[in-house]
Amino acid sequence: MDWKTLSFCSLTLDYLVIVYLNFRQLFTYKKFIKTNKENKDLAEELLLSSLRYRQTVFKIVATIYSVITYFIFLHFIYPKLWNLSIEITSTDSLLKNEIIGTMLFFALKALLNVVLNFPVSFFSTFYLGDDELNLKAFRVFVQDKALAYIFSIFLYFPLLTCSILIIRSFYTQHSWIYCTVLDFIYQFFIEFIYSPMVKPMFVQMINLPDGDLKNDIIQVCKKTGYNTNSVLISLDTAAQNSTQHLNIYCSPYFKKQVIIHESSFKKYSKEDVVSALAHEIYHCKQHDQLKNLVIQTLNNGLFFFLLNHFIQSPTSFSDFGFEYDSLYIGYLVFSFIYGPIHQLLFNIFSTILVRNQEFSADLYSQTQLGYNNLETLKKILKIENGDKLVDYYYSLVFNNYPSVIERIKNLELLLKKSK
Ligand SMILES: [Zn+2]
Repeated sequence: MDWKTLSFCSLTLDYLVIVYLNFRQLFTYKKFIKTNKENKDLAEELLLSSLRYRQTVFKIVATIYSVITYFIFLHFIYPKLWNLSIEITSTDSLLKNEIIGTMLFFALKALLNVVLNFPVSFFSTFYLGDDELNLKAFRVFVQDKALAYIFSIFLYFPLLTCSILIIRSFYTQHSWIYCTVLDFIYQFFIEFIYSPMVKPMFVQMINLPDGDLKNDIIQVCKKTGYNTNSVLISLDTAAQNSTQHLNIYCSPYFKKQVIIHESSFKKYSKEDVVSALAHEIYHCKQHDQLKNLVIQTLNNGLFFFLLNHFIQSPTSFSDFGFEYDSLYIGYLVFSFIYGPIHQLLFNIFSTILVRNQEFSADLYSQTQLGYNNLETLKKILKIENGDKLVDYYYSLVFNNYPSVIERIKNLELLLKKSK
């Protein structure tokens, strides 16, 4: 099988599964709407479900639209665009050609993407979103798209240039190992050093004043063996509207501290904050974040290893009609081929793992420490307007974290079993 056929099969398989799962979710809404149509007590939920139903229909249409455009791009437009970019920029140095050609190709490709995605984002903003369509809103919408385009060029030009220069200068058979290690170090830095220690410096925070609340929080820390006396309230306005429910953070390594967003105190009771904190500390104790990072690194390592194989293959570029080799094109094309492996195998594996971590943390807070975590979860579902209709397989592939309703159902089941 040549690379082009492989990419076609892989892309088709991937999208068939995506569409199938979306249909499953769609029927979950449909069934609910049909059976409860007359129930006046559920009027609000019915309204929400029909909105989510429409959003899912739109997602299916957008998916089909994007698979068709991806297919046309990959098999017809990208090769022509790349060959053209190289011919325009032809200098006498191969490396210079690759860098300038990549910039040109990237700029054209990004522009084409903006144009082709325009109907999808237009529809989702003005018909499914809250925005009302008028001249001013439309102007802002177009302005945002243009700014995002310019921003991506400013960001990617230096990044791509450096990557090409480094990889071409130091390339060996084992480069994929160095890439994997570097990737791990970078992710580790962001997650365990930058986020808990550097980022808070730029966010307004205050110490939680002494009192009952602080005593209760310190009590949880003591009970769970997470030794810290530092409890901070974050006043970060950017995080205020984030979808994250009960915004509590505790860093597992280096500097132990508890950071709670002020909105959590406004929306939830002291009991809720404490039970959610116990859940978070359990993740730290089990090194869950680190485990997930290692698995993510293994996945990236596999990607780099296979990418190396793909770029080395004598037919990888010619199969698609690319007349000149390129690291960026190799990366781009291979991402399409690797997509299903990532989506179907890795995602499912990692979400099963994350699910178990979440369920165990809920159970720990409820049974080991004796907090009413079940009540807290029910409150989160209500306050955050969480979706109560979730198809198991849809959620397994698309939701990195289990939805609140899944956590509630699982905890109820475990509590019933233990009785
Ligand atoms: Zn959790």
